[in-house]
Amino acid sequence: MTPIMEPIKHILTRPAPYALGIWVGLWLPDIDLALLPILHHRSIITHSILIPWLLFVILKNRVPLYGISGLYAGIAIHLAADCLSATVGFGMIWTPWPYKASLGLASPVWIVVNAALGIWLSLKLAPEKKIWLVTGMCLVALVYSVLNEMAMLPFITFGLIFSVVSFISYKMMRKQAIDKTSAS
Ligand SMILES: [Zn+2]
Repeated sequence: MTPIMEPIKHILTRPAPYALGIWVGLWLPDIDLALLPILHHRSIITHSILIPWLLFVILKNRVPLYGISGLYAGIAIHLAADCLSATVGFGMIWTPWPYKASLGLASPVWIVVNAALGIWLSLKLAPEKKIWLVTGMCLVALVYSVLNEMAMLPFITFGLIFSVVSFISYKMMRKQAIDKTSAS
């Protein structure tokens, strides 16, 4: 490949699928509204990391990894905004037909845990060039918060979850590095 083609290749294999994934992930959870006979709104199926995880497990080598990474990030941004709703009615997480029961007070916990896992798996799937990835993720979270939710609190919530996830993965990485040096 010529040196001129190299940056184009990188855009096509990393940021483009990542951006597409993040955009789809932002709206994917609320697809439950189109499937109301089977799913309740705020379904446990779509308001979780289940869909990108299944995509990863089933289609691992056929879908760009950065696309799945984006999907995780988009869903995490959506969930960070959803966790601010009051725990009543559509604010809760619901199991699908035929039972359609709510998780009740455990709903916010479910949402936050899945948002955190989404961020963690998004970063894990895309180990290279994390700066643009993190910048992109935070920028999309800001734009989604301001334009879609018309508030800053969803962005702040996302930032808090992101910070906790980053702190834990940093600690884990450090522990791994220390274990490695003490083992050698
Ligand atoms: Zn939602």
